[in-house]
Amino acid sequence: MTPLYEGKAKRLWATADPNVLRMEFKNDATAFNGEKKASFENKGRLNNAISTLIYGMLEKEGVPTHFVRQIDETNVEVHKVEILMVEVIIRNLAAGSFCKRTGVEEGRVFSQPIIEFCIKSDELGDPLVNDDYIRELSLATPEDLAFLREAALKVNAILIDFFARCGLKLVDFKLEFGRLAAQPGKIVLADEISPDGCRLWDLKTGEKMDKDRFRRDLGNVMEAYAEVLERVKSATR
Ligand code: ADP
Ligand code: UDP
Repeated sequence: MTPLYEGKAKRLWATADPNVLRMEFKNDATAFNGEKKASFENKGRLNNAISTLIYGMLEKEGVPTHFVRQIDETNVEVHKVEILMVEVIIRNLAAGSFCKRTGVEEGRVFSQPIIEFCIKSDELGDPLVNDDYIRELSLATPEDLAFLREAALKVNAILIDFFARCGLKLVDFKLEFGRLAAQPGKIVLADEISPDGCRLWDLKTGEKMDKDRFRRDLGNVMEAYAEVLERVKSATR
């Protein structure tokens, strides 16, 4: 069997239902647009468990997502979507490329969340773009963008509260959305929410509990992910 798609961190497989896919979480990790590569035992299991609990919680909060059910430790079933080629980044505190771009010190708290759109393209290095670029490139309509902004802010508000109950500060994160294959007029939250795509800092110690441990060679990468899972489990109980 060959997957329909193999990405850097996941594989997509067909199922008996043409509108449903199996999404498999791999142990592979990449950073800096694929330049830095590694594999971590248990990463797929940890990200699947974290993402599954968070998607379940978001669905309960009324956020439409692609999530169908967890199959096993590293696989979930999801509604097939046509992914929008626009990634949405939400920032509550300065970090990562925001600091690089602006010279602002890491950790500055924003008065309101910052929303950024990037083109989803490994080849181009996911460049930051504005609404006009997105319209002219036909990546999404202005109405789609208004929807994405509102959905991203809603998810942010829910996740800030949720992670605070986990003793974690939600610094920034990336979301992907897609049009349901079975209902192309409907856009839902897709992909995953895990420490791979969120910056999470311990509320008490400020310790980084996310992929920055890998990016910056801080060590104990999977120990941090496992700790995030334990806290997410407690907060969803
Ligand atoms: P990448 O493609 O960036 O290497 P991954 O390894 O995480 O990323 O691969 C997962 C791929 O599956 C991503 O391209 C993502 O946009 C896509 N995807 C996520 N959810 C769905 C879904 N419900 N339907 C179709 N594609 C999806
Ligand atoms: N992010 C992601 N995938 C990307 C780009 C960013 O998951 O392709 C996440 C990243 O983990 C962080 C947030 O989005 O939580 C903001 O990332 P930033 O733009 O600072 O990117 P960096 O320069 O750190 O890659």
